[in-house]
Amino acid sequence: MLLEVRDLHVEFHTRDGVARAVNGVSYGVDAGETLAVLGESGSGKSVTAQTVMGILDTPPGRITGGEVLFEGRDLLKLKEEQRRKVRGAEMAMIFQDALSSLNPVLTVGDQLGEMFTVHRGMSRKDARARAVELMDRVRIPGARERVKQYPHQFSGGMRQRIMIAMAMALEPKLIIADEPTTALDVTVQAQVMELLAELQRELRMGLILITHDLGVVADVADRIAVMYAGRIVETAPVHDIYQAPAHPYTRGLLESIPRLDHKGRELYAIKGLPPNLTRIPSGCPFHPRCPMARDVCRTDVPPLYEVSPRRGSACHFFRECLDA
Ligand code: SF4
Ligand code: MG
Repeated sequence: MLLEVRDLHVEFHTRDGVARAVNGVSYGVDAGETLAVLGESGSGKSVTAQTVMGILDTPPGRITGGEVLFEGRDLLKLKEEQRRKVRGAEMAMIFQDALSSLNPVLTVGDQLGEMFTVHRGMSRKDARARAVELMDRVRIPGARERVKQYPHQFSGGMRQRIMIAMAMALEPKLIIADEPTTALDVTVQAQVMELLAELQRELRMGLILITHDLGVVADVADRIAVMYAGRIVETAPVHDIYQAPAHPYTRGLLESIPRLDHKGRELYAIKGLPPNLTRIPSGCPFHPRCPMARDVCRTDVPPLYEVSPRRGSACHFFRECLDA
């Protein structure tokens, strides 16, 4: 396994009390594999990713348990300087908002080139040539000219391509993309997602794709982990989930995807709101919103039951859910 997160716990100190953002998350991704991590905002998916990358703000965040194994070594035990090396060359992150991640006063060529001058000790001239190559690779037309432009001179979709180019510049083994297409138009979203998936396959990188939109992951992910209230509630190969979800929350997410064959039908929405993380409901944290909830759900926390060898569900009644 390239990356393995084991029983991770992260909390935040807030004025309201301790917010339990991540409560025993375990997941893994292999080289050449794409894991989609799905959930509403506040489900803990970004906090888990930030912990993996070593960019969690501490304080207010605090890692209270678990391991983050990257090629077998626990990143949580590394000193910040070693951590920074891993972060530059072995894993990279792509964020939703390219404009705030790019430096507005440096040309795109200088920013891409910096990856090679700083991390690879290349000359400026060679680094510039590599920057042009990278821009070609992420299919930005006219790379030789556009390398001299500033971030604000690019469209949102082109800027996100630049972010992808930066992330893969040093050919990392793992990329974490946190809502990489959420800010883009639907058609541009599909193109950027395709590009990301294609490069991931070519370079055999592990990819963790964080999203709230189950609609964007069907074609690109191998596995899905669905998060709710800082826990993984279902994990499975992508096709299994689309065929029959084993958790009512996943079912709700699936039924809220707009589909052509459901035209005119009202979209299903999961009722209610995600819980306040300082006061996570007793028993199954999803029970206040769950159409299948019964008494035991209010008292007993469901473990991640084994549905099949590659599949888990944190629902006491996963069999009923599969058959529904
Ligand atoms: Fe719903 Fe109960 Fe399953 Fe939780 S354990 S998802 S409340 S049926
Ligand atoms: Mg987020």
